[in-house]
Amino acid sequence: MEGRVQSKINKLRRSMSLTGAIVTTAVGILLPVILSTTVGIIAIATGNGTEWTLFGVLVVSFAAAAIGGGVIVTVLLSKKHVIGRQQADFLANITHELRTPLTAIRMYAQTIEMGRLEGKPELLEQASKTILRETEWLESMIDQVLTWRAASRDMNILDKKMKPIKETVKHSVERFKRMVPDDEVEFTYELKSESTIYHDERAVHSIVINLLVNAYKYTGTLKKITLKLFDEGDNTLLTVKDNGIGIHESELHKIFDPFYRVDSRLRSKASGAGLGLAIVKHNAVLHDAEVSVKSEENAGTEFTVSFIKSINPEKK
Ligand code: ADP
Repeated sequence: MEGRVQSKINKLRRSMSLTGAIVTTAVGILLPVILSTTVGIIAIATGNGTEWTLFGVLVVSFAAAAIGGGVIVTVLLSKKHVIGRQQADFLANITHELRTPLTAIRMYAQTIEMGRLEGKPELLEQASKTILRETEWLESMIDQVLTWRAASRDMNILDKKMKPIKETVKHSVERFKRMVPDDEVEFTYELKSESTIYHDERAVHSIVINLLVNAYKYTGTLKKITLKLFDEGDNTLLTVKDNGIGIHESELHKIFDPFYRVDSRLRSKASGAGLGLAIVKHNAVLHDAEVSVKSEENAGTEFTVSFIKSINPEKK
Protein backbone atom coordinates (compact mmCIF):
# COMPACT_ATOMS: atom_id res chain seq x y z
CA MET A 1 0.00 0.00 0.00
CA GLU A 2 2.76 2.40 1.08
CA GLY A 3 4.77 1.41 -1.98
CA ARG A 4 1.83 2.19 -4.26
CA VAL A 5 1.31 5.63 -2.71
CA GLN A 6 5.05 6.36 -3.01
CA SER A 7 5.09 5.33 -6.68
CA LYS A 8 2.05 7.59 -7.33
CA ILE A 9 3.88 10.51 -5.67
CA ASN A 10 6.99 9.81 -7.76
CA LYS A 11 4.86 9.67 -10.92
CA LEU A 12 3.26 13.01 -10.00
CA ARG A 13 6.67 14.55 -9.30
CA ARG A 14 8.05 13.30 -12.60
CA SER A 15 5.12 14.67 -14.60
CA MET A 16 5.23 17.99 -12.70
CA SER A 17 8.93 18.49 -13.39
CA LEU A 18 8.32 17.80 -17.08
CA THR A 19 5.34 20.16 -17.21
CA GLY A 20 7.54 22.80 -15.55
CA ALA A 21 10.29 22.30 -18.13
CA ILE A 22 7.83 22.50 -21.03
CA VAL A 23 6.09 25.60 -19.65
CA THR A 24 9.47 27.34 -19.05
CA THR A 25 10.60 26.51 -22.59
CA ALA A 26 7.28 27.68 -24.05
CA VAL A 27 7.18 30.94 -22.08
CA GLY A 28 10.92 31.60 -22.45
CA ILE A 29 10.66 31.29 -26.21
CA LEU A 30 7.08 32.38 -26.93
CA LEU A 31 7.17 35.76 -25.17
CA PRO A 32 10.31 37.13 -26.85
CA VAL A 33 9.12 35.66 -30.17
CA ILE A 34 5.72 37.39 -29.96
CA LEU A 35 7.42 40.69 -29.04
CA SER A 36 9.97 40.55 -31.85
CA THR A 37 7.30 39.48 -34.40
CA THR A 38 5.19 42.50 -33.39
CA VAL A 39 8.21 44.81 -33.71
CA GLY A 40 9.02 43.28 -37.10
CA ILE A 41 5.45 43.66 -38.41
CA ILE A 42 5.25 47.27 -37.16
CA ALA A 43 8.59 48.03 -38.84
CA ILE A 44 7.38 46.54 -42.16
CA ALA A 45 3.97 48.27 -42.00
CA THR A 46 4.94 51.71 -40.77
CA GLY A 47 8.66 51.98 -41.53
CA ASN A 48 9.75 54.49 -44.09
CA GLY A 49 12.20 53.21 -46.62
CA THR A 50 13.91 49.93 -47.63
CA GLU A 51 16.05 49.76 -44.46
CA TRP A 52 12.98 49.54 -42.22
CA THR A 53 11.36 46.87 -44.44
CA LEU A 54 14.61 44.87 -44.44
CA PHE A 55 14.89 45.25 -40.66
CA GLY A 56 11.24 44.11 -40.25
CA VAL A 57 11.71 41.05 -42.51
CA LEU A 58 14.89 40.08 -40.64
CA VAL A 59 13.21 40.34 -37.25
CA VAL A 60 10.17 38.30 -38.40
CA SER A 61 12.40 35.58 -39.94
CA PHE A 62 14.44 35.46 -36.76
CA ALA A 63 11.22 35.00 -34.74
CA ALA A 64 10.00 32.23 -37.10
CA ALA A 65 13.32 30.36 -36.70
CA ALA A 66 13.05 30.67 -32.90
CA ILE A 67 9.48 29.26 -32.99
CA GLY A 68 10.70 26.30 -35.08
CA GLY A 69 13.54 25.65 -32.62
CA GLY A 70 11.20 25.93 -29.65
CA VAL A 71 8.74 23.45 -31.14
CA ILE A 72 11.55 20.97 -31.84
CA VAL A 73 12.94 21.29 -28.29
CA THR A 74 9.46 20.84 -26.76
CA VAL A 75 8.70 17.77 -28.92
CA LEU A 76 12.09 16.22 -28.09
CA LEU A 77 11.59 16.89 -24.37
CA SER A 78 8.16 15.23 -24.31
CA LYS A 79 9.41 12.29 -26.40
CA LYS A 80 12.32 11.76 -24.00
CA HIS A 81 9.89 11.90 -21.09
CA VAL A 82 7.56 9.31 -22.68
CA ILE A 83 10.49 6.95 -23.36
CA GLY A 84 11.80 7.44 -19.81
CA ARG A 85 8.37 6.68 -18.35
CA GLN A 86 7.98 3.62 -20.59
CA GLN A 87 11.37 2.31 -19.45
CA ALA A 88 10.53 2.88 -15.77
CA ASP A 89 7.12 1.17 -16.17
CA PHE A 90 8.75 -1.66 -18.08
CA LEU A 91 11.32 -2.27 -15.34
CA ALA A 92 8.64 -2.16 -12.63
CA ASN A 93 6.35 -4.54 -14.58
CA ILE A 94 9.04 -7.02 -15.48
CA THR A 95 10.43 -7.13 -11.94
CA HIS A 96 6.94 -7.76 -10.61
CA GLU A 97 6.38 -10.47 -13.24
CA LEU A 98 9.60 -12.26 -12.40
CA ARG A 99 8.96 -12.08 -8.69
CA THR A 100 5.58 -13.87 -8.84
CA PRO A 101 6.82 -17.25 -10.19
CA LEU A 102 10.00 -16.99 -8.11
CA THR A 103 7.97 -16.64 -4.92
CA ALA A 104 5.89 -19.70 -5.81
CA ILE A 105 9.01 -21.75 -6.64
CA ARG A 106 10.70 -20.79 -3.37
CA MET A 107 7.59 -21.58 -1.33
CA TYR A 108 7.14 -25.07 -2.80
CA ALA A 109 10.87 -25.85 -2.65
CA GLN A 110 11.00 -24.85 1.05
CA THR A 111 7.97 -27.01 1.80
CA ILE A 112 9.71 -30.00 0.20
CA GLU A 113 12.99 -29.21 1.98
CA MET A 114 11.27 -29.10 5.37
CA GLY A 115 10.00 -32.61 4.71
CA ARG A 116 6.37 -31.54 5.00
CA LEU A 117 5.40 -33.56 1.94
CA GLU A 118 7.08 -36.78 3.02
CA GLY A 119 4.67 -39.72 2.78
CA LYS A 120 2.30 -37.58 0.69
CA PRO A 121 3.17 -38.59 -2.88
CA GLU A 122 0.18 -36.78 -4.41
CA LEU A 123 1.08 -33.46 -2.81
CA LEU A 124 4.73 -33.95 -3.70
CA GLU A 125 3.75 -34.53 -7.34
CA GLN A 126 1.57 -31.42 -7.28
CA ALA A 127 4.42 -29.35 -5.82
CA SER A 128 6.94 -30.49 -8.41
CA LYS A 129 4.42 -29.83 -11.19
CA THR A 130 3.91 -26.30 -9.89
CA ILE A 131 7.67 -25.70 -9.71
CA LEU A 132 8.07 -26.89 -13.30
CA ARG A 133 5.10 -24.78 -14.44
CA GLU A 134 6.45 -21.63 -12.82
CA THR A 135 9.86 -22.31 -14.33
CA GLU A 136 8.22 -22.41 -17.79
CA TRP A 137 6.64 -18.98 -17.08
CA LEU A 138 9.99 -17.59 -15.99
CA GLU A 139 11.63 -18.92 -19.11
CA SER A 140 8.96 -17.50 -21.38
CA MET A 141 9.29 -14.05 -19.75
CA ILE A 142 13.05 -14.07 -20.13
CA ASP A 143 12.64 -15.19 -23.77
CA GLN A 144 10.26 -12.28 -24.29
CA VAL A 145 12.71 -9.68 -22.97
CA LEU A 146 15.67 -11.12 -24.91
CA THR A 147 13.62 -11.38 -28.12
CA TRP A 148 12.51 -7.78 -27.77
CA ARG A 149 16.04 -6.58 -27.05
CA ALA A 150 17.29 -8.30 -30.20
CA ALA A 151 14.30 -7.08 -32.23
CA SER A 152 14.66 -3.46 -31.17
CA ARG A 153 18.33 -3.47 -32.21
CA ASP A 154 17.64 -5.36 -35.42
CA MET A 155 19.80 -8.16 -34.12
CA ASN A 156 17.44 -11.07 -34.70
CA ILE A 157 19.49 -13.87 -36.17
CA LEU A 158 16.98 -16.00 -38.00
CA ASP A 159 17.57 -19.62 -38.80
CA LYS A 160 14.84 -20.16 -41.39
CA LYS A 161 14.24 -23.66 -42.69
CA MET A 162 11.71 -25.30 -45.00
CA LYS A 163 9.67 -27.27 -42.50
CA PRO A 164 6.05 -28.22 -41.87
CA ILE A 165 4.82 -25.41 -39.64
CA LYS A 166 2.58 -27.93 -37.88
CA GLU A 167 5.63 -29.39 -36.09
CA THR A 168 6.72 -26.00 -34.72
CA VAL A 169 3.22 -25.09 -33.55
CA LYS A 170 2.88 -28.51 -31.91
CA HIS A 171 5.97 -27.83 -29.76
CA SER A 172 4.54 -24.46 -28.70
CA VAL A 173 1.20 -26.05 -27.83
CA GLU A 174 2.97 -28.65 -25.69
CA ARG A 175 4.92 -25.95 -23.90
CA PHE A 176 1.77 -23.93 -23.25
CA LYS A 177 0.10 -27.04 -21.80
CA ARG A 178 2.98 -27.33 -19.34
CA MET A 179 2.49 -23.69 -18.33
CA VAL A 180 -1.16 -23.86 -17.31
CA PRO A 181 -2.97 -26.19 -14.91
CA ASP A 182 -5.39 -28.55 -16.75
CA ASP A 183 -8.27 -27.69 -14.44
CA GLU A 184 -7.97 -23.94 -15.04
CA VAL A 185 -8.48 -23.82 -18.77
CA GLU A 186 -10.40 -25.69 -21.45
CA PHE A 187 -7.78 -25.70 -24.16
CA THR A 188 -8.48 -27.29 -27.53
CA TYR A 189 -6.37 -27.29 -30.65
CA GLU A 190 -6.54 -28.51 -34.25
CA LEU A 191 -3.35 -28.75 -36.28
CA LYS A 192 -4.61 -29.45 -39.80
CA SER A 193 -2.08 -27.67 -41.98
CA GLU A 194 0.12 -29.84 -44.16
CA SER A 195 2.08 -26.89 -45.56
CA THR A 196 5.76 -26.40 -45.50
CA ILE A 197 6.67 -22.87 -44.52
CA TYR A 198 10.14 -21.32 -44.72
CA HIS A 199 10.35 -20.21 -41.10
CA ASP A 200 12.46 -19.71 -37.99
CA GLU A 201 11.22 -22.07 -35.30
CA ARG A 202 11.99 -19.77 -32.35
CA ALA A 203 10.26 -16.80 -33.93
CA VAL A 204 7.09 -18.76 -34.78
CA HIS A 205 7.16 -20.37 -31.34
CA SER A 206 7.29 -16.91 -29.83
CA ILE A 207 4.22 -15.83 -31.88
CA VAL A 208 2.20 -18.84 -30.72
CA ILE A 209 3.24 -18.65 -27.05
CA ASN A 210 2.57 -14.92 -26.77
CA LEU A 211 -0.91 -15.28 -28.28
CA LEU A 212 -1.77 -18.26 -26.05
CA VAL A 213 -0.41 -16.59 -22.91
CA ASN A 214 -2.50 -13.48 -23.62
CA ALA A 215 -5.59 -15.61 -24.25
CA TYR A 216 -4.97 -17.16 -20.84
CA LYS A 217 -4.19 -13.89 -19.01
CA TYR A 218 -7.12 -11.89 -20.33
CA THR A 219 -9.91 -14.38 -19.61
CA GLY A 220 -11.97 -14.81 -16.49
CA THR A 221 -12.28 -17.97 -14.45
CA LEU A 222 -14.03 -20.13 -17.08
CA LYS A 223 -11.25 -20.01 -19.63
CA LYS A 224 -11.85 -21.46 -23.09
CA ILE A 225 -9.00 -21.20 -25.56
CA THR A 226 -8.94 -22.66 -29.06
CA LEU A 227 -5.97 -22.77 -31.40
CA LYS A 228 -6.34 -23.76 -35.05
CA LEU A 229 -3.79 -24.19 -37.79
CA PHE A 230 -5.14 -24.82 -41.30
CA ASP A 231 -4.46 -24.19 -44.97
CA GLU A 232 -6.62 -21.85 -47.00
CA GLY A 233 -5.69 -21.17 -50.64
CA ASP A 234 -2.15 -19.80 -50.76
CA ASN A 235 -2.07 -19.21 -47.02
CA THR A 236 -1.68 -21.09 -43.78
CA LEU A 237 -3.71 -19.55 -41.01
CA LEU A 238 -3.04 -19.72 -37.29
CA THR A 239 -5.95 -18.60 -35.11
CA VAL A 240 -6.05 -18.23 -31.33
CA LYS A 241 -9.47 -17.57 -29.87
CA ASP A 242 -10.55 -16.95 -26.28
CA ASN A 243 -13.74 -16.19 -24.38
CA GLY A 244 -12.13 -13.40 -22.38
CA ILE A 245 -12.64 -9.76 -21.53
CA GLY A 246 -12.14 -8.61 -25.13
CA ILE A 247 -10.69 -5.35 -26.38
CA HIS A 248 -12.61 -2.15 -27.10
CA GLU A 249 -12.67 -1.18 -30.79
CA SER A 250 -10.85 2.10 -30.06
CA GLU A 251 -7.86 0.20 -28.63
CA LEU A 252 -7.42 -2.34 -31.42
CA HIS A 253 -4.97 -0.27 -33.47
CA LYS A 254 -2.74 0.45 -30.45
CA ILE A 255 -2.29 -2.98 -28.88
CA PHE A 256 0.61 -3.94 -31.17
CA ASP A 257 2.67 -0.90 -30.10
CA PRO A 258 5.62 -1.79 -27.84
CA PHE A 259 4.90 -1.21 -24.12
CA TYR A 260 1.24 -0.40 -24.79
CA ARG A 261 -1.17 -1.90 -22.25
CA VAL A 262 -4.91 -1.33 -22.27
CA ASP A 263 -5.83 0.31 -19.02
CA SER A 264 -8.62 -1.16 -16.95
CA ARG A 265 -9.01 -2.62 -13.52
CA LEU A 266 -9.48 -6.22 -14.57
CA ARG A 267 -6.55 -5.96 -16.99
CA SER A 268 -4.22 -4.41 -14.45
CA LYS A 269 -4.51 -7.61 -12.42
CA ALA A 270 -2.85 -9.45 -15.31
CA SER A 271 0.84 -8.75 -15.25
CA GLY A 272 2.76 -7.92 -18.39
CA ALA A 273 5.33 -5.61 -19.89
CA GLY A 274 3.36 -4.69 -23.00
CA LEU A 275 5.75 -6.49 -25.34
CA GLY A 276 3.88 -9.69 -26.27
CA LEU A 277 1.93 -8.37 -29.25
CA ALA A 278 4.80 -6.16 -30.43
CA ILE A 279 6.89 -9.34 -30.67
CA VAL A 280 4.05 -11.18 -32.44
CA LYS A 281 3.84 -8.41 -35.03
CA HIS A 282 7.63 -8.11 -35.42
CA ASN A 283 8.09 -11.86 -35.92
CA ALA A 284 5.14 -12.01 -38.31
CA VAL A 285 6.69 -9.25 -40.45
CA LEU A 286 9.97 -11.22 -40.53
CA HIS A 287 7.94 -14.01 -42.18
CA ASP A 288 5.87 -11.77 -44.51
CA ALA A 289 2.87 -12.87 -42.47
CA GLU A 290 -0.07 -10.66 -41.52
CA VAL A 291 -1.66 -10.39 -38.10
CA SER A 292 -5.29 -9.41 -37.60
CA VAL A 293 -7.59 -9.26 -34.60
CA LYS A 294 -11.34 -9.47 -34.02
CA SER A 295 -12.69 -8.73 -30.60
CA GLU A 296 -15.84 -7.99 -28.68
CA GLU A 297 -15.74 -6.64 -25.16
CA ASN A 298 -16.79 -9.21 -22.54
CA ALA A 299 -17.16 -11.87 -25.23
CA GLY A 300 -13.67 -12.70 -26.44
CA THR A 301 -10.88 -12.12 -28.88
CA GLU A 302 -9.52 -13.91 -31.92
CA PHE A 303 -6.07 -13.27 -33.37
CA THR A 304 -5.20 -14.59 -36.84
CA VAL A 305 -1.72 -14.87 -38.29
CA SER A 306 -1.72 -15.49 -42.01
CA PHE A 307 1.46 -17.07 -43.41
CA ILE A 308 2.08 -17.37 -47.12
CA LYS A 309 2.79 -20.93 -48.21
CA SER A 310 6.43 -20.95 -49.18
CA ILE A 311 8.27 -21.86 -52.29
CA ASN A 312 11.60 -23.26 -51.23
CA PRO A 313 13.94 -20.24 -51.60
CA GLU A 314 16.90 -22.59 -52.05
CA LYS A 315 15.27 -23.97 -55.24
CA LYS A 316 14.18 -20.60 -56.66
P1 ADP B 1 0.93 -7.43 -22.07
O1 ADP B 1 0.04 -8.62 -22.14
O2 ADP B 1 2.27 -7.71 -21.51
O3 ADP B 1 0.25 -6.25 -21.45
P2 ADP B 1 0.78 -7.38 -24.98
O4 ADP B 1 1.59 -6.61 -25.96
O5 ADP B 1 0.85 -8.86 -25.09
O6 ADP B 1 1.25 -6.90 -23.57
O7 ADP B 1 -0.72 -6.93 -25.13
C1 ADP B 1 -1.05 -5.54 -25.16
C2 ADP B 1 -2.42 -5.32 -24.55
O8 ADP B 1 -3.42 -5.88 -25.42
C3 ADP B 1 -2.61 -6.02 -23.22
O9 ADP B 1 -2.19 -5.19 -22.15
C4 ADP B 1 -4.11 -6.28 -23.19
O10 ADP B 1 -4.79 -5.19 -22.66
C5 ADP B 1 -4.49 -6.42 -24.66
N1 ADP B 1 -4.68 -7.84 -25.05
C6 ADP B 1 -3.79 -8.63 -25.67
N2 ADP B 1 -4.28 -9.87 -25.91
C7 ADP B 1 -5.55 -9.84 -25.42
C8 ADP B 1 -6.61 -10.81 -25.35
N3 ADP B 1 -6.46 -12.04 -25.86
N4 ADP B 1 -7.77 -10.43 -24.78
C9 ADP B 1 -7.93 -9.17 -24.29
N5 ADP B 1 -6.98 -8.21 -24.31
C10 ADP B 1 -5.81 -8.54 -24.87
